Amino acid sequence: MSSSLNKIPVEVSLYEKTEKVYPRETAGRFQSLRSVSMYALLGLYYILPWIPWGERQAVLFDLPARKFHIFFLTFWPQDFFFLTLLLILAGLSLFFFTAIAGRVWCGFACPQTVWTEAFVRMERWVEGSRAKQMKLTQAPWTFDKVRKRVTKQFLWITFALFTGLTFVGYFQPVKELFPAFFSFELGGWALFWVIFYGFATYGNAGFMREQVCKYMCPYARFQSAMFDKDTLIVAYDEQRGEPRSRGKRRKGDETETAAKGDCIDCGICVQVCPTGIDIRDGLQYECIACAACIDGCDEVMKRVGLPVGLIKYSTQAQNQGSGKSLKQTVLRPRVLIYGTLLAMVFIGFISALVMRSSFQVDILRDRNALYRWSKTNDIENSYQVRVMNKSQLDQGYTVAVRGLEGASADWGKTSEAGRSRVVQAGDIGEFIVIITLPATANYQRSQDIELYFSETVGKSPSSIAEESRFWGPAKRN
Ligand code: SF4
Ligand code: SF4
Repeated sequence: MSSSLNKIPVEVSLYEKTEKVYPRETAGRFQSLRSVSMYALLGLYYILPWIPWGERQAVLFDLPARKFHIFFLTFWPQDFFFLTLLLILAGLSLFFFTAIAGRVWCGFACPQTVWTEAFVRMERWVEGSRAKQMKLTQAPWTFDKVRKRVTKQFLWITFALFTGLTFVGYFQPVKELFPAFFSFELGGWALFWVIFYGFATYGNAGFMREQVCKYMCPYARFQSAMFDKDTLIVAYDEQRGEPRSRGKRRKGDETETAAKGDCIDCGICVQVCPTGIDIRDGLQYECIACAACIDGCDEVMKRVGLPVGLIKYSTQAQNQGSGKSLKQTVLRPRVLIYGTLLAMVFIGFISALVMRSSFQVDILRDRNALYRWSKTNDIENSYQVRVMNKSQLDQGYTVAVRGLEGASADWGKTSEAGRSRVVQAGDIGEFIVIITLPATANYQRSQDIELYFSETVGKSPSSIAEESRFWGPAKRN
């Protein structure tokens, strides 16, 4: 009998249904910090494309023209080096700040956190507090429920589309984009990206929320490689919270106070957590260090007349009673190495930016003829030249040749030959340069030369020397 019962198959579901997290509203110093961060970052994102800079917008990633404008700087594909440095800087910053303060980026500045916070606030505004939201979810579909749900979805979708539209405004002139969108004249790729980015915003911040941090973000997975025992984390003081047990007690009841720790097991720290975890279970990879549980618990501690800080920023070493000061914690080898590397790359980046030439020249030798004879029987070589004016001024350029005695360089033989060539600010000029050498001069059949270009406008005009080759006929003995 018992052996046949043992054979009855038992179904075990490998799929666990996701429980929606309804974060409770908190108030406190970290909540204020998160609000400031959210408004500052959202404000920056939505306002930046609208700031004018001369005849263009201050920040414009002009992909068709392959130019990135950031205020007074214009970057070209040739400036890829700066993008590389920026990515290295971003990576090192992540290592540096994570080594000091754990996932502080996730809790206060990550776009996922910032936009989720905005969506959560809209939800709270329409549906009310955490308890009301949970009640509404359980309630049958009444007119009031439909009204609230439709209003929330309308706000979310409008905000998401506005976010998508602003995103595209970084790549297309925003003053043309918005009128085109609202007059239904926007089409093609621009419309696709508005909807795609809007959909991504809605999906990440309205629908998936903490699931992105828990299951999709790679940072949560490799953070342990950057953590050590001296990294600041949000931690529950277990020694104080539950030396024997946790649990509810009456204020001022000494018997209960002696029997229990300071945690009254109110569950507020769990209710305010945007990822729905219980920090009392110890450090978990789902914790984004937003410190909402610190604010929540501090409020509770004040209400029951106990000192705040049952949940606080501390380190594993401090929790184990290492007795290290904050200075000793911060000034440890790992942080100093990351900090030094970060400072070096930062100085390199700024120096490269300051020393960056205001123009760039690409030279291509004429491939049709190695050389040709002029009407006056001189030897001529021809070069196609692209001059990129990276500055914010219309600029003139002159050309000269070095390394070939007796030779002269000039712009193509037009009526304007001998004068400088002008390239408009942020534009590319394409020209022909001719090097002329008297046949009687002393030359080799092929030799290295330098084409020397100089700016003609401004207080400290720059110059650039570019190498190329000069060819002449073989000399007869
Ligand atoms: S908020 Fe503080 S007192 Fe309440 S359960 Fe969490 S740790 Fe305990
Ligand atoms: S445990 Fe605390 S710090 Fe971590 S995510 Fe939850 S509320 Fe934020």
